[in-house]
Amino acid sequence: MTESVTNWAGNITYAAKELHRPRTLDALRTLVAESSRVRALGSGHSFNEIAEAGEDGMLLSLADLPPRIDVDTTARTVRVGGGVRYAELARQVHRHGLALANMASLPHISVAGSVATGTHGSGVGNGPLSSSVRAVELVTADGSTVTFARGDERFGGAVTSLGALGVVTALTLDLEPAFEVEQHVFTEMPLEGLDDTAFETVMASAYSVSLFTDWREPGFRQVWVKRRADQPLTDLPPAAPAVEKMHPVPGMPGVNCTEQFGVPGPWHERLPHFRAEFTPSSGAELQSEYLMPRRSAVAMLRALDGIRETVAPVLQTCEVRTVAADDQWLSPSYDRDTVAVHFTWIEDTRTVLPVVTRVEEALAPFDARPHWGKVFTTPAAVLHARYSRLHDFRALVRDMDPDGKFTNAFVRDVLGD
Ligand SMILES: Cc1cc2nc3c(=O)[nH]c(=O)nc-3n(C[C@H](O)[C@H](O)[C@H](O)COP(=O)(O)OP(=O)(O)OC[C@H]3O[C@@H](n4cnc5c(N)ncnc54)[C@H](O)[C@@H]3O)c2cc1C
Repeated sequence: MTESVTNWAGNITYAAKELHRPRTLDALRTLVAESSRVRALGSGHSFNEIAEAGEDGMLLSLADLPPRIDVDTTARTVRVGGGVRYAELARQVHRHGLALANMASLPHISVAGSVATGTHGSGVGNGPLSSSVRAVELVTADGSTVTFARGDERFGGAVTSLGALGVVTALTLDLEPAFEVEQHVFTEMPLEGLDDTAFETVMASAYSVSLFTDWREPGFRQVWVKRRADQPLTDLPPAAPAVEKMHPVPGMPGVNCTEQFGVPGPWHERLPHFRAEFTPSSGAELQSEYLMPRRSAVAMLRALDGIRETVAPVLQTCEVRTVAADDQWLSPSYDRDTVAVHFTWIEDTRTVLPVVTRVEEALAPFDARPHWGKVFTTPAAVLHARYSRLHDFRALVRDMDPDGKFTNAFVRDVLGD
């Protein structure tokens, strides 16, 4: 590569010497077939070396391929190209009067990269973004295309695949009729007195609910409630409505965020926290996230409260969300209704890493599975114990890519090689 390529956060400079941006599918197939080591790079929003191809490998971006977004209004599906980001996809889908079930906090990320890492939004009834995927098309090691569809025996390994099976060139996603969402933000919800029932009530009070804290005090600074206008009103959180537009990171401008104060609007302009045309989050940061059984949520929050004096000095914000159980083998919410606790750290890796390890120790009793796209220090052996279908995934990788063309050091660790 003539210039260095970094991830969005700038904490990773990829060692791969080549970044290719094919303009046609045929050119992509040829590149894959003729290379010995390949990793696809999405929009680069991961915070670790998951996308790294290594010094002798090739990074492949699909951003210059024609951005295909084919909506089928009868079947209520969309077939989307492997380089497309959610912002563009959502606008097109909405133009057809249709919607995706959920979105992450930002629309800037690529669909293929997001579902590869188990990216999710919030909602007790909402699985991760991968649960909308009904088919995935991959260019495999010899340049040929393989399609896995929902119902296939090996589909469970094919979507949240960490980029290890091949280059995803298209995904077909489920859609539903477009809906409107009202976003309300509340402030200062205490942790004291929060029991399992109260937690469930708050998190189930709307389609998607997020709690934010900076852990400087016990309790939540903000509660974000995204209510579908077509669903009945339920009890609102025991907290005061915000009087100004809020940003989850204290001190950042609320204008970067999607509309609040209950103004109804289209699903794709309310489900993400951040507006497509602004920098999401703070921009100068690292992130970590852990996913645990939802029934442990309150005990887990109390464990974090116990180490808040360690966490708070390096934290910008912490978000608590829920994710419904899904069936992708490597999904951090595989087979269990989940509570996800996310940390936006300061951008100083050396200072943050020991705190990440401390958080992992505190969350170990809750069988915490780290987000594949964020910073973690959980040893590979522990990961293996937390994924019951890892052996099935390893067998799938070996079968589809026996020479390890799409495997990197990160994937080797996960597979236990
Ligand atoms: C500001 C910010 C906010 C975030 N908010 C959320 C959130 O709300 N919820 C959440 O769960 N996560 C969140 N994340 C994490 C983010 O969603 C994941 O890191 C996700 O993987 C990003 O997608 P990407 O396209 O940037 O992937 P990349 O980082 O580019 O790649 C991730 C993985 O996907 C693979 N990949 C990418 N494209 C392809 C392809 N075409 N074929 C095969 N493999 C491919 C790569 O090889 C790599 O293994 C956030 C990140 C940032 C920076």
